[in-house]
Amino acid sequence: MRLIFLGPPGAGKGTQAERICSTYGIIQLSTGDILRENRRNGTELGKLAQKYMDAGELVPDNIIIDMIKAELQKPALKTGYLLDGFPRTINQALALDSLLEEMNQKLDAVLILEVPNEELIKRLTARRTCKSCGKSYHLIFNPPRKENICDVCGGELFQRDDDKEEPILNRLKVYENQTKPLINYYTEKSIAKYINGVGDIDEIFTRIKAILDKV
Ligand code: ADP
Ligand code: AMP
Repeated sequence: MRLIFLGPPGAGKGTQAERICSTYGIIQLSTGDILRENRRNGTELGKLAQKYMDAGELVPDNIIIDMIKAELQKPALKTGYLLDGFPRTINQALALDSLLEEMNQKLDAVLILEVPNEELIKRLTARRTCKSCGKSYHLIFNPPRKENICDVCGGELFQRDDDKEEPILNRLKVYENQTKPLINYYTEKSIAKYINGVGDIDEIFTRIKAILDKV
């Protein structure tokens, strides 16, 4: 199964991606996670991306497209994948279409997770992320069992620099202007599936599963 996960920052893509990937045996490919890993490792790509990420701006398309091109060639992705955080612009979507054509692959669905802005701000301001495995928590809605420690890998939790008020507001604006047009793009291709992203985490997964079981 090959999927795109589309939705504003804080919609719960990462949280649901974990469940989707383990249930359907596919791999999550999060461009945000890949960029953060590059930053931790001090690579050229990480250094290039830093100023855009901290300001809540998009990293330039050419950098992201080269990165995803390399990722999609990895043999582990043969069984399927869930693209989380990519594409984020019409140019990225067009580049992905060409890449898929070259690889003779087709997308099965584009999942669109819908959450209103007031709820996104509540989710993002109290998000905590694991330094080692990237899993996300919420101080109130989805806390770890032990304060500041990841349930899965025991890593330390931190607050992302872009999960502060100013970059959050900018990311929501960037989503509205640059990423939201993709909803129409995929709706016209008849592969968009809309999901109400408000509610209990398990309940939302049940909604997603009802769609994916029919894909
Ligand atoms: P995204 O990957 O779309 O940016 P995350 O999966 O990291 O979003 O979720 C954003 C924040 O909201 C995290 O703190 C997460 O724990 C929390 N969260 C995820 N799903 C829900 C939900 N259904 N209700 C409340 N909080 C949620
Ligand atoms: P995310 O983890 O998806 O919230 O992404 C964090 C940040 O990484 C974004 O605010 C962007 O700066 C950058 N980023 C991630 N994916 C992309 C993408 N597809 N295009 C451009 N920038 C991206």
